[in-house]
Order: sequence, then C-alpha cells, then structure tokens
Amino acid sequence: MDPGYRSGGVALDALVRAVPGLRGLADLTGEQVAQVGSQDMNDALWLTLARQVNALLLADQADGVVITHGTDTAEETGFFLHLVVKSDRPVVLTGAMRPSTSLSADGPLNLFNAVAVAADPAARGRGAIVVLNDDLHSARDVTKSNTTDVQTFISPGPGLLGTASYGQIRFFRGPSHRHTTESEFSIDGLDRLPRVDILYAHAGMPHDLVQASVSLGARGIVMAGMGNGNVPTETAHALADAANRGVVVVRSTRVVSGDVGRNIEIDDDTLGLIASDQLNPQKSRVLLQLCLARGLEPGAIQHAFYQY
Ligand code: GLU
Repeated sequence: MDPGYRSGGVALDALVRAVPGLRGLADLTGEQVAQVGSQDMNDALWLTLARQVNALLLADQADGVVITHGTDTAEETGFFLHLVVKSDRPVVLTGAMRPSTSLSADGPLNLFNAVAVAADPAARGRGAIVVLNDDLHSARDVTKSNTTDVQTFISPGPGLLGTASYGQIRFFRGPSHRHTTESEFSIDGLDRLPRVDILYAHAGMPHDLVQASVSLGARGIVMAGMGNGNVPTETAHALADAANRGVVVVRSTRVVSGDVGRNIEIDDDTLGLIASDQLNPQKSRVLLQLCLARGLEPGAIQHAFYQY
C-alpha cells in the first residue's frame, strides 16, 4: 500500500458521513474555516479560527466545538485556543494519524469520541482538549511524540485528562494552569501576532543565528535548548545581547519531558532570560507571542510561564 497522501483533502461533510452514529451524539453543524495540512497553519489562521470559535460560543450558537486538525501542529493550535477562547464550553481538537483511505483508518472513531467529549457537560471548564486514540489531553500538556504511530500524543508530566471509549468519556482531572475564561489573553483588536522565532540548540550551534533572528525583526526568541534549556556559551552571550536590545528570550528544551528552571546552569538573572518552566518550544512561542501582544514586561512574562 502506498503510504503517500495529501493532508487536508477531505471536506467536512464527507468526514461526518464517514462516521456512523455521529449525528446521534449531538446536533451537528459544520463550518470549513480552512482546509490545509496543519504544517500550513499560521498566526493568521489561528486568529481567524479563534474568532470563529469565540463567536459561536459567546453567541450561544453551540454547546461545544470540535475542530478537525492535522496532528502536526494540533498542539499549538490547541494551546492558542486554550489561552484565547473566552468561554467555558468545550473546544475539542481531533485528527487522524492514518489517511482516510488507509487500512484501519483511525479518523472516524477519533471524530466520534471528539463529538462525544464536546457534547459532555463534564467537559466544560477544562479548556481546549485534544482527543486521539481514545485519550483526552489538555491542549497545554499534549505533544506529538511519534511520526507515524496512532498512539502519538502524550502528555509528559501531567498525564492524561481522561479517556474515551466508543463515546464513553471519563475525566481524571482538570487542567492544572490558567486557561480560557481565566486567561488574561485576548485576541480582541489583534490583527497579527508579534514575530517570535524558535532556534534549535545543538552541539556546534552557530551563535550568529540569534543575530539573524533579531535582524529579521523577531521581537521574541524561543530556544529549543539542550537538556535543562542549555545553550552553547557563545549563544548564551548572543541571547543576552538580544535581551539587552529588548528582544524577549525564553529558554525551553528540545527534550520531550521535564521542566526548564531558572538559574540552573545558565544565569538567567544576569543574562536577562526567561525559563519556560513546563512549556515546550512550540507552546512557549504561542505564549510569548500573546505576552508580547499584551505588552508584558520580562518579569511579568516569566510569571506568565509559571501560570499558563
Ligand atoms: N501533515 C499532516 C498534518 O498535520 C499530518 C497528517 C495528519 O496527522 O493529519 O496536517
């Protein structure tokens, strides 16, 4: 069988038709906000999507929202919505690891479970939830851990929010950090997000990448650092230089689990850097963009990384 495919190619009606019993779970209406592989998601699409979700939920037009989304960037879109949706109603993202044309396609059951979550009153107040392969993850905690496996999503550290079994939903816990109605972040009046670049640390990393980002107009830089957010010494100096010039620098990690703490091997206080605490680089970027859009100062941004 040919494993090649084009993502984002199945229209919404066809998705709904492919899932027996779906319309028995809830009254469903659909809107096609975008039809792209999620590698093509971007800031503008996030703003459009979040506006649409807020409009539906705040106008009392839906008890919950399900978003079908590619798995590549579902964690970022989910976290963005987790921070800027202003409703306690469920916002659920789901997708599929196998194309709809493949043997044992996983999309139909994932969509069934996602609609069951969105229709469940117990899902209220839990922020954005990612549903895949019978697992419910908080959008804050989830990350893609395997390129092809149907069991790709994990929530390292905090663990699962709950499970779904053929539409039977069980919640184990609520989200641990501020979100949606308790989030200070809003997209009102925003027509773009500030540029924040992610740089990947590695042995022998050229430190002038930092300067390149600054020259290209980045207002923030997130480091996918080694280990506990470490970077080569020359890169640390370049980051301190950028911070001195008003670019906000967050140290996250390329490691899939574990926290990044302040002042461990790198002296954040002296260099003017921020530690990401528990957020991976791609989620740190989302939070930093919203912090910058809100005009927060570095001290308040560090506080936000502990709170969200
Ligand atoms: N590139 C695809 C996407 O994230 C991956 C396949 C999928 O999981 O949908 O859109």
